Amino acid sequence: RAKSSFSEHICYYEAGMDESARHRRQLANDLRQAIARDEFEVLYQPQRSLRTNEVSGYEALLRWHHPRLGTISPSEFIPIAEETGEIIRIGEWVLRAACAEVVTWPGKDKIAVNLSPVQLLQADLPEVVTAILHEVGMSPQRLELEITETAIIADKTRALHSLRRIKALGVSVAMDDFGTGYSSLDTLHSFPFDKIKIDKSFLLESRESDQARAIIRAVLALGHSLGIPVLAEGVETHEQLQLLLGEGCDEAQGYYFGRPGPPPPGVGRALAVNA
Ligand code: C2E
Ligand code: MG
Ligand code: MG
Ligand code: MG
Repeated sequence: RAKSSFSEHICYYEAGMDESARHRRQLANDLRQAIARDEFEVLYQPQRSLRTNEVSGYEALLRWHHPRLGTISPSEFIPIAEETGEIIRIGEWVLRAACAEVVTWPGKDKIAVNLSPVQLLQADLPEVVTAILHEVGMSPQRLELEITETAIIADKTRALHSLRRIKALGVSVAMDDFGTGYSSLDTLHSFPFDKIKIDKSFLLESRESDQARAIIRAVLALGHSLGIPVLAEGVETHEQLQLLLGEGCDEAQGYYFGRPGPPPPGVGRALAVNA
């Protein structure tokens, strides 16, 4: 009796849950099997130097091919994986998969991998990174880790300690999504970032918004006065590229140069030439 009223209670609760909470719980469950079922894919998006006009590296972007729901965006499942702690295993998987793939490409392009704040606050992160680089035989100079400020806000002392140990390996560190959230000058002052990535929202609004253009200009001035190169995210049009060139932006990334795609970038052409 007690048992049945308990399950009735559960059913009642579930029926009353809104659709999105149920959906999130489903994804949280399914995420635990996603690595074992080989449902993840890493896509690569080129980053372009605006100085030399050459590809300077690639950002690894994760996709989840859910067997029933189709491809799910990382903006949807990463926060869920962070909540459940699954991001630790997923993050390590992405890092290993991206590094293992990149070492097989011709050329020595850099690979940028996003790091969750949860990963950054793991005490053994530097050991995990070292082990993966060793395992795949990749030089640390080819790896860049992208972090957002959320990681540093959560526990500044621990985050900075972790970042210093990562840099000591020879791996570089980029500040992602700069200008959103809690961006503070203090963060840039406290840690020698190798790159600042201006959040794509500013470029996407740059056409209509004087403020957005002013912020892009200000971030470029800030980066340059600190000696840190600045990359603009979200370049979709020639007009946006012209704006960045006019303002002296160092690097850019966006659909204009290439969407995130399967590997190996550019190898198709090289093979065709060799054939
Ligand atoms: P992010 O690191 O800021 O990555 C840039 C996002 O902008 C990517 O979205 C990319 O596809 C998108 N993008 C690139 N160019 C353009 C453009 O010209 N216009 C527009 N509108 N968007 C553009 P994506 O792949 O959906 O990833 C979203 C976010 O999910 C990433 O933002 C990152 O925060 C997170 N993420 C992706 N992969 C991973 C991962 O392996 N680990 C972790 N922790 N987070 C990841
Ligand atoms: Mg990123
Ligand atoms: Mg970003
Ligand atoms: Mg983002």
